[in-house]
Amino acid sequence: MNFTTQMDAARKGIVTKEMEIVSQKEKIDVSKLMDLIAKGQVVIPANKNHKSISPEGIGKNLRTKINVNLGISRDCNNIDSEIEKVKTALDMKVESIMDLSSYGKTREFREKLIDMSSAMIGSVPMYDAVGFLDKDLKDIKEEEFLDVIKQHALDGVDFITIHAGLTRSVSKKIKNHDRLTHIVSRGGSLLFAWMELNNKENPIYTNFDKILDICEEHDVTLSLGDACRPGCISDSTDGVQIDELIVLGELTKRAWKRNVQVMIEGPGHMAIDEIEANVVLQKRLCHGAPFYVLGPLVTDIAPGYDHITSAIGGALASSKGVDFLCYVTPAEHLRLPNLEDMKEGIIATKIAAHAGDIAKNIHGARDWDNKMSKARVELDWEEMFNLCIDPKKARRYRDESRPTHDDSCTMCGKMCSMRTVKKILNEEELSLI
Ligand code: SF4
Repeated sequence: MNFTTQMDAARKGIVTKEMEIVSQKEKIDVSKLMDLIAKGQVVIPANKNHKSISPEGIGKNLRTKINVNLGISRDCNNIDSEIEKVKTALDMKVESIMDLSSYGKTREFREKLIDMSSAMIGSVPMYDAVGFLDKDLKDIKEEEFLDVIKQHALDGVDFITIHAGLTRSVSKKIKNHDRLTHIVSRGGSLLFAWMELNNKENPIYTNFDKILDICEEHDVTLSLGDACRPGCISDSTDGVQIDELIVLGELTKRAWKRNVQVMIEGPGHMAIDEIEANVVLQKRLCHGAPFYVLGPLVTDIAPGYDHITSAIGGALASSKGVDFLCYVTPAEHLRLPNLEDMKEGIIATKIAAHAGDIAKNIHGARDWDNKMSKARVELDWEEMFNLCIDPKKARRYRDESRPTHDDSCTMCGKMCSMRTVKKILNEEELSLI
């Protein structure tokens, strides 16, 4: 039997090879997985033209996935250094890479990226339209936006972020609202400017059905972007953000009618006490579609450490039902991340995702921690390193400060509680002198 998208296949009762792989990776029964895909609660972003992909599922009952942003910009347009980052991100086993390229030879970079990447690839065609077409924003025609989306789909991009929810009515509220940071989404700000300069409705919204045609043909998952995501904790959960979310919920239903898979993007910056309510609102207004968040950054005052502010919010968000975390690096708000920034961002986000998975009782999440605890109590340092989220760093720290007694560490030395209790329990001789 033929099928168009993973959702179409699931609704027809067809088990695709992608579903089989995801069910094995997640240790979830394939029929349960198929049911979740059919309902839109899980997506498998896997463009038919992305041949090197190792598919992953995002959504209910599955491990929280993480995304890394990369790409060339006008100020940093060295393709080779971005490719180095791609290799490192793949070595660190990220599940997703978003190409945010916005300048020059974007297609050349995108093709290389898709060709070499087992991770799913996302993009924001709006950035590319501005960078690649190299013309004034105001002069870009509606068809040209669609042409860029089509090109990304043909190239094998697995999911695209489109800011279709920023309608004229929502953008009018932005102008009349007392937000501190207005619009901080890059794609959202470009669309807002295009709409104002041309005095027209959002072309991504008005051409939504044509975009669905493209997505259906290539099985591109839609990541419905939140152009009005809060850019500071003062703006979170306001009317503008929620108005846009309501539109995204309507668009989700339209996409599902065409069997197009959908994720919803979310905040942004947000105080800790609002995170849970935002997850509930998103799941409710968007009918259980997977939730993909950047952050949330739980305070605005820590540039240089925003991988930490984001991991705090990300862990809480994931524990409450967020399915996909976009990484944030220490360079957030300051510059394009370098390789080291990227590594720190990945580790922080992986920790957040895993902490959420423990709380969500995801299959196998706790086992990892229990193995580590067992290795700790055994003072089995090699096993501890094997289990570390960042073995290189752990090994370096220990090597930089060697203990007198090899079984302990320099924190407590001979007074190592693990060592003391182990010796007593094993009825071994204990000397603390
Ligand atoms: S010395 Fe202290 S910190 Fe180090 S392993 Fe033993 S109990 Fe843990």
